[in-house]
Formats: sequence, structure tokens, C-alpha cells
Amino acid sequence: MLLQRLTAYADEHRGDIPPFHREREFRWKVDIPAAGGRITGPPVLEPVRDVDKPARGVVHTVPASTRTVAVAPQLAADDVQYVLGWGDDTTQSARVTQCHAAFVELTREWAATIPVAQDGVPHVLVELYRSGALAKIDRPQEIRAKDGVVLAVNGQFAYRSPSAAGFWKTQVGQRKGSGRSGRCLVCGTCGALANTIPGKVPAALVPGASNDAALVSVNERVFGYDLVAQLTHTPICLSCADDVMVGLTGVLSSKHRLTLEGQDTRLAWWVTDTDESDQMDLVMEPDPAQVDAFFAALPQARERTSRLKGRFCWLAVGGNVARIMVREWIDIALTSKNHNVVDHDSNIVAWFADHKNTPRRTTPVRLRDGRDLPAGQWLHSPVALAACLGRWDETTGRYRPFGARNTDRPEQALNQILRAAVLNEPVPAAMRAHLIHRVRNDGHIDDLRASLVRLALSRRPNKPKGTSVPMSLDETCTETAYLAGRLFAVMEHAQRDAHYKTRRTSQSDSAATESDSDAEQEQNQRREVNSSFGDKFRRRACETPRPILTQGWKDSAAWLTKIRRHQGEALARWHQNRLTDLYEKCDGIRGVPLRSSLTQQEHFILGYHHQLAYRTTKNTAAEA
Ligand SMILES: [Zn+2]
Repeated sequence: MLLQRLTAYADEHRGDIPPFHREREFRWKVDIPAAGGRITGPPVLEPVRDVDKPARGVVHTVPASTRTVAVAPQLAADDVQYVLGWGDDTTQSARVTQCHAAFVELTREWAATIPVAQDGVPHVLVELYRSGALAKIDRPQEIRAKDGVVLAVNGQFAYRSPSAAGFWKTQVGQRKGSGRSGRCLVCGTCGALANTIPGKVPAALVPGASNDAALVSVNERVFGYDLVAQLTHTPICLSCADDVMVGLTGVLSSKHRLTLEGQDTRLAWWVTDTDESDQMDLVMEPDPAQVDAFFAALPQARERTSRLKGRFCWLAVGGNVARIMVREWIDIALTSKNHNVVDHDSNIVAWFADHKNTPRRTTPVRLRDGRDLPAGQWLHSPVALAACLGRWDETTGRYRPFGARNTDRPEQALNQILRAAVLNEPVPAAMRAHLIHRVRNDGHIDDLRASLVRLALSRRPNKPKGTSVPMSLDETCTETAYLAGRLFAVMEHAQRDAHYKTRRTSQSDSAATESDSDAEQEQNQRREVNSSFGDKFRRRACETPRPILTQGWKDSAAWLTKIRRHQGEALARWHQNRLTDLYEKCDGIRGVPLRSSLTQQEHFILGYHHQLAYRTTKNTAAEA
């Protein structure tokens, strides 16, 4: 279960961080010169700054435990109001006095547990407060009540003194413990049980959370089983409780995690029980050679005991105020020899197989001005596919970035695409409908959108058994919407050729066929018409193909005449053959849907895209 996986992660990754310690940024340091547990000179308050980022303080891993509204001091390092008793315009002086008194009292309790000979540090701190030495420190202008300040003795940080971690562990046990002991549901051993989980995940790691957030919190009776508050019915021992938070913070901040501006989920993944790794780097940045290598090596990988032992964990969280919502939690085999077992490797194989789709430009292209355009990609990252669910920006030639205003991108987009990738799930109908909606509004179809359409079609619930969705032009495909998309692409091309002012002059000219929007824009300048057939009808064609193709068929006679006159018989005949062929395959347009279903619209887009991609090579040959 999740909590066990998180404690295991904490175990593997915690390093030498003591229990109930957290990272925190500190902007100030008080250093006290001392010898033999006595102060030997005036304490020095100074600012501390990150070497690389001078605007930031320095991060220390210090004793820490969640505090809510109550006054609750941390040990040896805390807010200025606790350590120095200084408030500012955001604090009430009575409360600051309380905080400071509590911090001083905690320091005294600490000193009382250990003789000077064993650890002089707490005794020096007690003397600091008793002697009034603090009053002699000048208060800097810019210091704030909630800035972090860390105490040091002779330059050594007090929280690292020999007795600090041990004392702190007992303290937290008293504060967060329930006073009961029993069997922990995470580790299964008997021990002191926690009343609440000590520690929270920083709000920055949980999209949607406005405060630092808790995973398990029963802070009101209504949340608890049998209307009992706190962890009464959720027995978790204190050390597991701490490990859960260390593990959760760890996975959410590791390098194997993802969240994007404007998306409601943070995703994290990790592998346990083995040294082998998952395939997520490949999914995120699909390099064709590496994907091939992955496919080739898979059979051997499935024979390795180390890989067969591994588990792949996947966690998706969102936040609501100060709570963490677990949207998705998956714990599956890393690999398996058994085809009936869900495993990570098979899911990734399916992901690449199902979204792989021909790019519009299958080979690199050199434009007339000498610029080289690289070939497009057959495989895409989930982030890029999620991006194409947003608005296409014609002026920048890009999708509106994540987090920008007016993107019209669903906030679950990334999560849904990643679920499809990692968990081998279908693309939800709402996402498919949204993609069509964007195509209709943007009039823009590219490699990403076509690839996402192929993924959606490959995994649609009503897909007939034993059929597959083509990944490049399939001339045997008889799906009428697919044929309609092809016919539309062929019409678009014929009309464009018909409206060239001049005949193409050389072969090298025609080698740089229009095959992408850059090249097309260049050609636009030489075109007689401002709005092409494609520009005019692309938005509507996938939804209502029949009337538009009927119109195109009527117009095509005039286009062919123009091509014949300006560019010669051969090209005209080539266009005519392509048009007639598809026209007949569509049963003279009568076979084309009057109004398309969602699946038919997707087939239309795929047919259109495949025809365009195919055109690149074919067209060049025909014109040469
Ligand atoms: Zn436990």
C-alpha cells in the first residue's frame, strides 16, 4: 500500500537525516563564543546568504514538527520571533512574547536532560537567555519576525550538537504521540502510536494547495471513523509517521516527477525492490534509437530476476487548502513473463505502439532560402501531446504555453495523457472531444494532434477486435471518414497548385516541396488567392465532410484546367487521377458521412494527415 511504499522510499533515500527533521531556509545566524559551557564574549547576529542566489538564505535540515495555530517552538533554530523574541508589523506583541518564552523553556528542558560534560551546547544557549546578552544585540532594519534564524556555538550549529536529535525525537513523541501503543498498520510492529502525522509537504509541491499540506489528517471528528478525531482508528507508529512524510516529500521533489503550470496534478514515480530502472526517461524524451533499443532488449530484460522482482510505483496528487488528494496510486510489476499480468514494460511498449504516427515531413527539407528543416517525429512526449490540447497560436507558430492565459487547455490534460502512457488507459472521451473542438477552432492539424488522434482511435472502447489503426497512409483502408480526409487533402493540394502564378522552373525548385507550414507560408506569397480551399474549409470539413467535399469536387474541374494551362498536362493528369481515385472510393461522395461522429472526425483527421505526409515524397517524384 501507499504508506508502506513511502516509508520504504524514506528508508532508501533518507541518508543520515535524523527523525523529525526538515529542510528550511534560514536568513540569519546567531553565533555565540563559548568555552566549557560558558559564554566568553558577545553573541554575533549576522545575515546568511546562498552563494549562488544572494537573494535567498541558506537551507539547513533542522528539527521540525508541524505547527498549526498553536505556539510550538522547534529546537535550536526557528523563526526570529521564537529565537530572539522580535516581532514586526504583522505580529502581535503578546504572542511574540509567548513564542519566545516557549522557545527559551524548550531550551531549558533540553539542557536539563544532559550534563555539561556530555554536551555543553544547550547550557550555553540557556546562559544566552539568562544573561541578557541578547539585549545587547543591535536589531537590523530588514529582519522580519518570521525569518529563520539558526543558533550556533563557536561556529558549530547548535542543532547538530550530540544530544539535539535525541532530545527532539522524545519531544515530538510527547507532542504528537497519542500516549497509546499498539500495532502499526504500516510496519506491523508494536510501538508508540502517533496522534497526528508530524510534518507536512510544502505547498509548492502540491498543485492546488494553498498551505503546506497533510496526507493523513483527522483533525475534526467528522473526518474520523465513528466520529473520533485524530489517528485513533488509523494506528501508525511515530517512526512510520515521520517516514511517510519524508518519503512523500522525497518522491514529490525527486527528479522523477512532473507538474506544469496550469495543471492540477503533480506526478511522481519510482521503482522499488530492485536496482533496475523504469522507462520513464524514454517516455518523456522518446529518442527513436533508444526506443528501438528498448524494444530489442525487452525479451532479455524479462528474463532478468532483478527486473522481475521490481515494482513500479506511480503517484498523482493534487491539493485542496491544506490537504493532499491522492488522485491516482499505482503499484505494478516492473516487468513480467506472464502476459496476463499488468506490468510497466508492457504498458510502455503499448504506449509507443499506439501513438506512433507518421510525421508530415518524413525526411529533412531544404527551403529555397537555404534553411534546413529537420524531419518530423514519429514519437512524442506526453508533455508535447498535452500541449497540443491547448490553443494554437498562429502568430508565434506554437501552442499557448502551460500556465499562460487563455490556453483553453483542460487542467487535467497532462495527467490524462500520462495515464494513457503509463497505465495503458484509453484517452477519455472528454479529451478526444476537446481535441476535435481545438482542431475546429484553430483549423490546425500537425504531427502532435494526428499522433494523439491515432492514440485515441487505437484505444477507443468500441474498436472492432483484430483491427489496427494505420500509422501512415494505408491505401487499403476503407473507413469512409479516413477516405474523406484523404480526399480533402488531395483537393487542398490541387487547388493550391492551380493558383501558382508561375510554372515551377527547375527540378531543384520542386524538390523543396511544400510540406510544412513554413514552406507553405513562403508559397503563400506567390499565390494569387488569399484564402485557399483548405484554409476556408479545414475547420468544418472534419465535422460535416459531405457538403464540403461536394463543393470541392465541383470546383476541381476549374482547378485542373488551370493546372493544365500553367503547369502542364502531366501534373494535371496526376492530380486528376488522385482526385478521381478517391472520389470513386468514397462512392462519389455519397459514402461520406453527412455529419461525423467523434470517431469519424478522428478518422478524417488521420486520413488527412496521412495523405499530406505521403504527398511529400510522391509529389516530388511526380513533378521531377
Ligand atoms: Zn510503524
